[in-house]
Amino acid sequence: MLNFDLPGLTALFARMGEKPFRARQVMRWIHPGGVADFTDMTDLAKSLRHKLLDHAEIKVPDLLFEQKSVDGTCKWLLDVGTGNGVETVFIPENTRGTLCISSQIGCALECLFCSTGRQGFNRNLTTAEIIGQLWWANKALGVTPKDERVISNVVMMGMGEPLANFDNVVIALSIMLDDHGYGLSRRRVTVSTSGMVPQMDRLKEVMPVALAISLHASNDRVRDKLIPLNKKYPLCQLMAACQRYLAKAPRDFITFEYIMLKDVNDSAQHARELIELVKDVPCKFNLIPFNPFPNSGFERSTSERIRIFREILQEVGFVVTVRKTRGDDIDAACGQLAGKVKDKTQRQQKWQLVQG
Ligand code: SAH
Ligand code: SF4
Repeated sequence: MLNFDLPGLTALFARMGEKPFRARQVMRWIHPGGVADFTDMTDLAKSLRHKLLDHAEIKVPDLLFEQKSVDGTCKWLLDVGTGNGVETVFIPENTRGTLCISSQIGCALECLFCSTGRQGFNRNLTTAEIIGQLWWANKALGVTPKDERVISNVVMMGMGEPLANFDNVVIALSIMLDDHGYGLSRRRVTVSTSGMVPQMDRLKEVMPVALAISLHASNDRVRDKLIPLNKKYPLCQLMAACQRYLAKAPRDFITFEYIMLKDVNDSAQHARELIELVKDVPCKFNLIPFNPFPNSGFERSTSERIRIFREILQEVGFVVTVRKTRGDDIDAACGQLAGKVKDKTQRQQKWQLVQG
């Protein structure tokens, strides 16, 4: 049942001879309600509950463990079978709470600076496994009335390339936005992509949520090296796709993520080239200090370089944020979501030691 959005559930109920409002009821129990057992759905007739028990299943991924960082960041590891785990991170801030979720186990795109990319690709997550991350987090953080949500934003910036798992991601997005699901507004759900141009065009037609682009370079020469996908969809094509996306949602803007890599993409010249590159795309920038991992071959830019880079962009009027590194003590920062259970178990031991 976790694999279906409302149209899917309604069709399933129709096949069982049940009315559409039953599908809405069940959706409310499962998603905002956090109920995974039909027997607990007390406003359904007993006969329907039995029918559902016989014909359907709510299979939520098992929770392997849960961690809380000193800064309030929470992390959950869910079991997705065959020794794999998938991590979900919640980052509380003053005015919002953001949940970062994964879309694949590993990633096939092999960006050089990304530990997920270095692992290679294992498989796509199912819709149930994607939405299961929100389901667990929502349940763990407390189910609250709509206007005082703990999770106000969802970003698909965990493991994997969401647009490479298009169909499953779109159904999960549909559940996030649905009023009978998590009721999140379109602008508070962000898909982050390394630049899969054809899928960006498809997304704007079916589910035009907020879009973040992992840009990371101001010219094709540097980007080709960092992100192999750039050879297929170079920057001119990517910028054109961003414009087409925004044509669908005119008051929106693109968030360009830009990882700060020492002596690779962080000079004043790069910043000026970047301004020229994005001149026709309404956008803001999110500068991400590189999170190192063993044998990455990269270093984080100095804070001085990041400051200068930021100021150059700000001087011409761009909104620029520099991502704070959160959840460092639980390896929950960007690009650190590795996901092997074995690996995690070692980290868990480390964590327990820290906790005494
Ligand atoms: N595949 C998608 C979404 C997942 S990656 C994408 O690439 O956009 C989420 C973000 O974390 C991306 O901007 C990615 O470039 C960034 N990231 C990857 N490795 C990182 C690292 N080691 N340090 C900091 N950010 C990293
Ligand atoms: Fe995949 Fe994104 Fe990592 Fe690139 S940065 S390897 S697209 S997860």
